[in-house]
Amino acid sequence: MTETSIVSYAEMAVKIRAHCLRMTHRGRSGHVGSMLSMADILAVLYTGILSVDPFNPGWEDRDRFILSKGHGGAAVYAALAERGFFPREWLDTYYLDNGKLSGHISHHVPGVEFSTGSLGHGLPVAVGMAIAARHAGAGHRVICLVSDGDCNEGSTWEAVMMAAQHGLDNLTVIVDYNRVQALGKMEDVIEMEPFAGKLKDFGWAVREINGHDYAEIESNLLELPFEQGRPSWVLARTVKGKGVSWMEGTVACHYGAVSDEQLIQALKELGVEA
Ligand SMILES: [Mg+2]
Repeated sequence: MTETSIVSYAEMAVKIRAHCLRMTHRGRSGHVGSMLSMADILAVLYTGILSVDPFNPGWEDRDRFILSKGHGGAAVYAALAERGFFPREWLDTYYLDNGKLSGHISHHVPGVEFSTGSLGHGLPVAVGMAIAARHAGAGHRVICLVSDGDCNEGSTWEAVMMAAQHGLDNLTVIVDYNRVQALGKMEDVIEMEPFAGKLKDFGWAVREINGHDYAEIESNLLELPFEQGRPSWVLARTVKGKGVSWMEGTVACHYGAVSDEQLIQALKELGVEA
């Protein structure tokens, strides 16, 4: 990893976070904590890992990225706009009537593969895409970013079993493992630990990383697949609301909107002009 790439990941992550704060503030919408949580992972994916073409979003050989935690879609919109998939001005219409960008992620937006919202839908679709790619003899990869809340859904585990049985080493799951969900902390809702152990028992190749450490994210994703003949699972430990001090680790930042004063303060913490 070069110093240049660390700088570009950090810059991208700040842009994603600032966009998300402004978008949710303007739209008076929630889920900003979920967006901030995965901003560093998205920054590395869209700057250094995913093989995608902003000038040809439907390019056949592109990597397929699915955001299963569709409520955090604004963060992917921000990354796509920064990569040039559509004008940055579209971000100003997020969550507004007749706007270009809906609250939950939509495949009508250039660069988005699949619309999600209800948890537990992303991975089953990703498994289908990975099987289709194999049947077609295609070389592209399928990467699915899920929340820990996604992993409480039965449909996710059906997909986990199917991917392992069929040895889908063209499939990767990244868990935004912030341990906070819509209505509570994981230990109070459904505890997944020992999380890595469960996935290993299900036949996946598993690695645990710090989801805010660019070098760790990059080096692991560059080594995909972790094992030939097995799907890869990245347990990325993250902090809900990462980057804004009063949001970090709180349940409140899942639904809570950002006030005028909070926006100014949050941007200041990011080192961005309000
Ligand atoms: Mg969570």
